[in-house]
Amino acid sequence: MARIVYVNGVYAPYASAVVHAEDRGFQFADAVYEVCEVRDGLLVDERRHMARLQRSLGELRMAQPMDLRSLGVILRETVRRNRVKNGLVYLQITRGVARRDFAFPQPGVAPTVVCFARPLSRAKGEKRAGAGISVITLPDIRWTRADIKTTGLLAQSLARQQANEAGAYEAWMVDRDGYITEGASCNAWIVTADGKLVTRPADFGILRGITRGVVMDIARRNGFVFEERAFTVDEAKAAREAFQTSATGLVMPVVKIDGEPVGNGKPGEVAVGLRQVYHTVAEISSTPAHLT
Ligand code: PMP
Repeated sequence: MARIVYVNGVYAPYASAVVHAEDRGFQFADAVYEVCEVRDGLLVDERRHMARLQRSLGELRMAQPMDLRSLGVILRETVRRNRVKNGLVYLQITRGVARRDFAFPQPGVAPTVVCFARPLSRAKGEKRAGAGISVITLPDIRWTRADIKTTGLLAQSLARQQANEAGAYEAWMVDRDGYITEGASCNAWIVTADGKLVTRPADFGILRGITRGVVMDIARRNGFVFEERAFTVDEAKAAREAFQTSATGLVMPVVKIDGEPVGNGKPGEVAVGLRQVYHTVAEISSTPAHLT
């Protein structure tokens, strides 16, 4: 089936879905984005993703191109036109097209808005989660505003490539003090020997993952003790369980860190349980009507 991409008001065939050579997203990664899970044709946690998008725009002093209801319509229409039942929808907003200059262009330059959707195999995701994944650790070489979801993802691209070359699925990044920040495209978690859930506080050093937030809600409702604090690579390797969270990977058990087994080397029961109940707590919406 032909893929359709939304670009600035037009639902274009994949091959002709293009942006200008002087788009600031292209030249400066002057752009923010969001990725929502699509499940049974519906958007998961749209409200929270849109709230984070607004925050990212605000931090970069970028105007919101249209109201949330209209963005919701674009997300849904892109999912519909691509007939995505299970997968993801990607929305990117850049500061627009302007003669190359580091400082912002004059006000009035129209932002660039791009949206695409693509299927992901649920069966493959479940299979991966059933086996658990391997991660490697490497230095976090990103800028200090990882809380803003920009398209400046080169450090993460290099990290993921290095993981893949090492036969691992993901790279967990480590700050100068030896503490794990997060994965290349996910948040990192451990379960301690005494059953506490631990994840790094959402300061400027990590992205405030939507899946992370939902897992916290699940933990709260189910009486888990959780701590928002940084943990070291050694602590992660000695943990009872490790897992990571993201909108497309959901709760994904980690069974090996730098080639060393975590716990008994199998997906942990906390991670497996969180994954099972995830969609009973996440918000799943068929229409953007709840957005005002
Ligand atoms: N951290 C980073 C660096 C990411 O790219 C992502 C995925 N967007 C996440 C965390 C997880 O965020 P979410 O749960 O919102 O997908």
